[in-house]
Amino acid sequence: MRCDSCLLPEPAAPVRLSHNVGMLFMRREYSTEGELCRSCLNRALFHHTLRNVTLGWWGTISFCMTWYFLFSNLVNYFRARSELGQMKPREAPRPPASGEEAARVLQPFEHNIRMQLRMGDSPGDIAREMARIHRVDAASAERFVASVQASEAEAVSEA
Ligand SMILES: [Zn+2]
Repeated sequence: MRCDSCLLPEPAAPVRLSHNVGMLFMRREYSTEGELCRSCLNRALFHHTLRNVTLGWWGTISFCMTWYFLFSNLVNYFRARSELGQMKPREAPRPPASGEEAARVLQPFEHNIRMQLRMGDSPGDIAREMARIHRVDAASAERFVASVQASEAEAVSEA
Protein backbone atom coordinates (compact mmCIF):
# COMPACT_ATOMS: atom_id res chain seq x y z
CA MET A 1 0.00 0.00 0.00
CA ARG A 2 1.38 3.37 -0.99
CA CYS A 3 0.23 6.94 -0.51
CA ASP A 4 -0.33 8.77 -3.83
CA SER A 5 0.76 12.05 -2.31
CA CYS A 6 3.91 11.40 -0.27
CA LEU A 7 4.66 8.03 -1.96
CA LEU A 8 5.51 6.42 1.37
CA PRO A 9 4.49 2.78 1.80
CA GLU A 10 1.84 3.64 4.39
CA PRO A 11 -1.72 2.35 4.64
CA ALA A 12 -3.77 4.58 2.31
CA ALA A 13 -7.48 4.98 1.60
CA PRO A 14 -9.17 6.35 -1.52
CA VAL A 15 -10.64 9.82 -1.05
CA ARG A 16 -11.79 12.86 -3.01
CA LEU A 17 -11.66 16.32 -1.46
CA SER A 18 -12.49 19.54 -3.29
CA HIS A 19 -12.71 23.25 -2.94
CA ASN A 20 -14.49 25.95 -4.83
CA VAL A 21 -13.04 29.27 -5.82
CA GLY A 22 -15.77 31.79 -6.48
CA MET A 23 -15.05 34.74 -8.80
CA LEU A 24 -18.49 36.45 -8.85
CA PHE A 25 -19.37 35.43 -12.41
CA MET A 26 -17.10 32.43 -12.71
CA ARG A 27 -16.09 29.62 -10.51
CA ARG A 28 -13.41 27.03 -10.45
CA GLU A 29 -13.06 23.69 -8.70
CA TYR A 30 -9.92 22.05 -7.42
CA SER A 31 -9.78 18.47 -6.18
CA THR A 32 -7.46 16.01 -4.59
CA GLU A 33 -8.30 12.49 -5.62
CA GLY A 34 -6.32 9.39 -4.80
CA GLU A 35 -5.21 7.01 -2.10
CA LEU A 36 -3.90 9.00 0.82
CA CYS A 37 -2.16 8.09 4.03
CA ARG A 38 -3.39 9.47 7.33
CA SER A 39 -1.12 12.50 7.46
CA CYS A 40 -1.66 13.47 3.80
CA LEU A 41 -5.41 13.03 4.31
CA ASN A 42 -5.34 15.46 7.24
CA ARG A 43 -3.21 17.89 5.27
CA ALA A 44 -5.54 17.68 2.25
CA LEU A 45 -8.63 18.31 4.38
CA PHE A 46 -6.99 21.38 5.88
CA HIS A 47 -5.90 22.61 2.44
CA HIS A 48 -9.36 22.36 0.89
CA THR A 49 -11.27 23.59 3.94
CA LEU A 50 -9.10 26.68 4.22
CA ARG A 51 -9.69 27.56 0.58
CA ASN A 52 -13.40 26.78 0.68
CA VAL A 53 -13.84 29.10 3.65
CA THR A 54 -11.73 31.95 2.32
CA LEU A 55 -12.17 31.75 -1.47
CA GLY A 56 -15.32 29.73 -1.92
CA TRP A 57 -18.34 31.94 -1.35
CA TRP A 58 -17.99 34.65 -3.98
CA GLY A 59 -20.85 34.06 -6.39
CA THR A 60 -24.36 32.65 -6.29
CA ILE A 61 -23.55 29.18 -7.48
CA SER A 62 -20.24 29.34 -5.64
CA PHE A 63 -22.05 29.98 -2.39
CA CYS A 64 -23.95 26.71 -2.78
CA MET A 65 -20.97 24.75 -4.08
CA THR A 66 -18.88 25.83 -1.13
CA TRP A 67 -21.41 24.46 1.34
CA TYR A 68 -21.64 21.33 -0.72
CA PHE A 69 -17.84 20.82 -0.76
CA LEU A 70 -17.43 21.61 2.94
CA PHE A 71 -20.00 18.97 3.72
CA SER A 72 -18.95 16.31 1.22
CA ASN A 73 -15.29 16.77 2.16
CA LEU A 74 -16.11 15.96 5.77
CA VAL A 75 -18.14 12.91 4.77
CA ASN A 76 -15.34 11.68 2.49
CA TYR A 77 -12.72 12.48 5.10
CA PHE A 78 -14.42 10.45 7.83
CA ARG A 79 -15.11 7.61 5.45
CA ALA A 80 -11.41 7.45 4.53
CA ARG A 81 -10.41 7.79 8.20
CA SER A 82 -12.54 4.85 9.22
CA GLU A 83 -11.14 2.83 6.33
CA LEU A 84 -7.62 3.66 7.51
CA GLY A 85 -8.59 2.78 11.06
CA GLN A 86 -9.52 -0.72 9.99
CA MET A 87 -6.15 -1.28 8.37
CA LYS A 88 -3.45 -2.89 10.37
CA PRO A 89 -0.54 -0.56 11.03
CA ARG A 90 2.53 -1.54 9.12
CA GLU A 91 4.16 -4.48 10.85
CA ALA A 92 7.50 -3.78 12.38
CA PRO A 93 10.13 -6.15 11.05
CA ARG A 94 10.67 -9.03 13.44
CA PRO A 95 13.91 -8.62 15.36
CA PRO A 96 16.36 -11.46 14.83
CA ALA A 97 15.94 -14.32 17.29
CA SER A 98 18.62 -14.72 19.91
CA GLY A 99 19.56 -17.03 22.78
CA GLU A 100 17.37 -20.11 23.26
CA GLU A 101 14.94 -18.90 20.61
CA ALA A 102 17.81 -18.84 18.10
CA ALA A 103 18.94 -22.31 19.14
CA ARG A 104 15.38 -23.58 18.65
CA VAL A 105 15.25 -22.00 15.17
CA LEU A 106 18.60 -23.50 14.18
CA GLN A 107 18.09 -26.94 15.75
CA PRO A 108 16.52 -28.49 12.60
CA PHE A 109 19.61 -27.42 10.62
CA GLU A 110 22.13 -29.02 12.95
CA HIS A 111 22.69 -31.81 10.44
CA ASN A 112 23.34 -29.34 7.59
CA ILE A 113 25.79 -27.44 9.76
CA ARG A 114 27.54 -30.69 10.62
CA MET A 115 27.80 -31.54 6.92
CA GLN A 116 29.14 -28.13 6.06
CA LEU A 117 31.73 -28.39 8.82
CA ARG A 118 32.80 -31.80 7.52
CA MET A 119 33.19 -30.34 4.05
CA GLY A 120 35.58 -27.87 5.58
CA ASP A 121 33.50 -24.66 5.51
CA SER A 122 34.65 -22.16 8.08
CA PRO A 123 32.42 -22.00 11.18
CA GLY A 124 32.29 -18.21 10.80
CA ASP A 125 30.91 -18.45 7.27
CA ILE A 126 28.36 -21.06 8.27
CA ALA A 127 27.21 -18.97 11.22
CA ARG A 128 26.85 -15.86 9.06
CA GLU A 129 24.85 -17.78 6.47
CA MET A 130 22.61 -19.32 9.15
CA ALA A 131 22.07 -15.94 10.80
CA ARG A 132 21.07 -14.37 7.48
CA ILE A 133 18.74 -17.10 6.23
CA HIS A 134 17.03 -17.95 9.50
CA ARG A 135 16.97 -14.46 11.02
CA VAL A 136 18.83 -15.15 14.21
CA ASP A 137 21.47 -12.82 15.61
CA ALA A 138 25.08 -13.37 14.63
CA ALA A 139 26.39 -14.18 18.12
CA SER A 140 23.72 -16.84 18.70
CA ALA A 141 24.41 -18.39 15.30
CA GLU A 142 28.14 -18.51 16.07
CA ARG A 143 27.42 -20.12 19.45
CA PHE A 144 25.20 -22.72 17.83
CA VAL A 145 27.73 -23.55 15.12
CA ALA A 146 30.45 -23.75 17.78
CA SER A 147 28.33 -26.19 19.81
CA VAL A 148 27.78 -28.35 16.72
CA GLN A 149 31.51 -28.19 16.05
CA ALA A 150 32.24 -29.24 19.63
CA SER A 151 29.89 -32.22 19.45
CA GLU A 152 31.42 -33.09 16.09
CA ALA A 153 34.89 -33.12 17.67
CA GLU A 154 33.63 -35.47 20.39
CA ALA A 155 32.11 -37.81 17.83
CA VAL A 156 35.40 -37.96 15.98
CA SER A 157 37.43 -38.62 19.13
CA GLU A 158 35.09 -41.44 20.14
CA ALA A 159 35.48 -43.13 16.80
ZN1 LIG B 1 1.03 10.41 2.35
